[in-house]
Amino acid sequence: MSWERILQIDRPGELLRQRIDDLFAQQRATWPTLRDGEAALAHLQRKTLTEGGRSVIVQMNPARRHSTLANTDAKVIAARACFLCPENMPPEERGIAFENLVLLPNPFPILPLHCTIADRKHCPQQLCGRIATFLQLAQEIGPDMAALYNGPLCGASAPDHFHLQAAPRRRYPDPRSAFRNFRQRSRRSACKLRPQHARRARAQPPAMLPLTSNAPSMRCNRSKRQPTSR
Ligand SMILES: [Zn+2]
Repeated sequence: MSWERILQIDRPGELLRQRIDDLFAQQRATWPTLRDGEAALAHLQRKTLTEGGRSVIVQMNPARRHSTLANTDAKVIAARACFLCPENMPPEERGIAFENLVLLPNPFPILPLHCTIADRKHCPQQLCGRIATFLQLAQEIGPDMAALYNGPLCGASAPDHFHLQAAPRRRYPDPRSAFRNFRQRSRRSACKLRPQHARRARAQPPAMLPLTSNAPSMRCNRSKRQPTSR
């Protein structure tokens, strides 16, 4: 089987976001594995764990056992038929083209409308040299969907075939909140340091203050500047 068969329902002249909706509609109608996988999302179990004022949402989906418990030892990966290569895909599976990648519905989804976006060639999961493609993809599927990259050691079961992923943005944790929290923590740290440094500075005549990166006043200033540059 070839990418030509996988891409036979694609309409490249239309917007990528519209083509994603059309692809999922066609695949839900013709591919029972995808229907079952999406139906399993109704049985998700979620729990919020809080420690030290920080919270993490943990999600458990028994239907993803197939992916998350897959053996990714190098020998096993080398011996298995890669499910992101078209010759090993089930006859119902279809996709749509994006540059040198093919966007496919994930039949074992973490979220609704969960896409796996595979390279047309069987090549390692390395982001190097692909940032521009990644950003272009994020722009074209937005604003209601977001793209993500799993590193080669955290891919559930395909560390040997490059792929990105995408899903509805509202279902992701907002990465901007992580930056906001980082900025707030840094400001609090700077505030705690400042009185101590001020006392040291007052204890020495201004001419004696060392002008090195280790100077207390310099550390204090850097703590303030770093977060705002992000
Ligand atoms: Zn492959």
